[in-house]
Amino acid sequence: MVIRSACVACTAALGISAALAGPQEVDAVYPAAHSLYLELHQQPELSGHEEHTAAKLAAQLRALGYQVTEHVGGTGIVAVLRNGAGRTVMLRTELDALPVEEKTGLAYASKVRTKDDAGNDVGVGHMCGHDLHMSALIAAATIMAHSRNTWHGTLVLIGQPAEETVSGAERMVKDGLFTRFPRPDVVLALHVGSEDPAGKVGVIPGIYDTNADSVRITIFGKGGHGSAPHTAIDPIVIAARTILALQTIPSREVKPGELAVVTVGYIRAGTKNNIIPDQAEMGLTVRTYKAGVRKQVLAAITRIATAEAQAAGAPRAPLIDRYEGADAVYNDPVLAAHMQAVLEAALGKDNVATREPFTASEDFSVFVEQGIPGFYLQLGGADPQQLAAAKAAGTTLPSNHSALFAPDVDPALHTAIAAEVAMLRDLLAGDAGAPLPVSGGHAAQTS
Ligand SMILES: [Zn+2]
Ligand SMILES: [Zn+2]
Repeated sequence: MVIRSACVACTAALGISAALAGPQEVDAVYPAAHSLYLELHQQPELSGHEEHTAAKLAAQLRALGYQVTEHVGGTGIVAVLRNGAGRTVMLRTELDALPVEEKTGLAYASKVRTKDDAGNDVGVGHMCGHDLHMSALIAAATIMAHSRNTWHGTLVLIGQPAEETVSGAERMVKDGLFTRFPRPDVVLALHVGSEDPAGKVGVIPGIYDTNADSVRITIFGKGGHGSAPHTAIDPIVIAARTILALQTIPSREVKPGELAVVTVGYIRAGTKNNIIPDQAEMGLTVRTYKAGVRKQVLAAITRIATAEAQAAGAPRAPLIDRYEGADAVYNDPVLAAHMQAVLEAALGKDNVATREPFTASEDFSVFVEQGIPGFYLQLGGADPQQLAAAKAAGTTLPSNHSALFAPDVDPALHTAIAAEVAMLRDLLAGDAGAPLPVSGGHAAQTS
């Protein structure tokens, strides 16, 4: 794809750095970035087990002159490049892949299988695009290291483990990410998706995505013979009633117009058709934008699950366990508007759009909640022709986490590299004391 070269007069008028990544700079690093992508894609590792991935990135960053520390918060890496006085800016990539068997049929599709933490044999695939994020980060790191005359300050690049289990960011922070290493003035990240065509990016000011809560409900009944239900209390029937009643939370309890998603993603009970089991377990994902709605929905889940068990005469109240959670990512609106201008200058105005928030979630919010303004960019990843055909047919392309998720690598990776370099150079053009283009608010507004 063609990256529009910077117009010095227009960027100066916008008050942003003119030192954008030219197409030649991106083209020069692209072959290495693309082969790194293919390598990473074929060697995916599950959350918390990203040893080889982390070691590979660490070696490349060290060779570029970055000061690299490994094993930060598990398998995390932190790479620092000091280049005189100025601001400190952090760019993050995730390291992990998913327990999904890739079914794209691509020549470079992952064939990896492993045991997950529960001992199950699973296929492993980079079906969220983190391999593309890592390749872009290394390419941007290369350009920044080879063009130190275009910026000044401190660049901090991190490889975060275990994003998919929304635990890696917190582990890195607890392991001293912001105390053992230079504390950033701004944190940046991007994510590829199939909603937008490759070559384009989406800017979402304010709330970027949702609060996410994982809830496990264990319902207790009384086991018995399938032919004698009167001697038992059937937890499967209680679970079925609970699942349907939970759907009245978004439809009947939450104010229309407010986002609330309650999905029961699994239910496990029983072993044989003629046995009434003594318990049933189900797993929920709950998504909301607003803190008040989040609280309301979680309280309603507890109330409904407890009351359904009681209504059925269950021997004890269900166990309700909130075992994972992430707060919504908040994009500082002033920073987002500034970055939009920077990206328009770097990629062309037509390639940058303002987007609505997503219902996905992720733990980049942990960094922002440390009081550091953040900007999280949406990167288009869909093949433009396939996307147009899907839209015309009224369907959607396979989304992230699907076994068929396959970004259009060349334009998406080119754009990711150009966008990252443009944002880094702009933020690293200011003096240490110069005011940042931020509003000063952060995640407190969402939680
Ligand atoms: Zn992801
Ligand atoms: Zn994901």
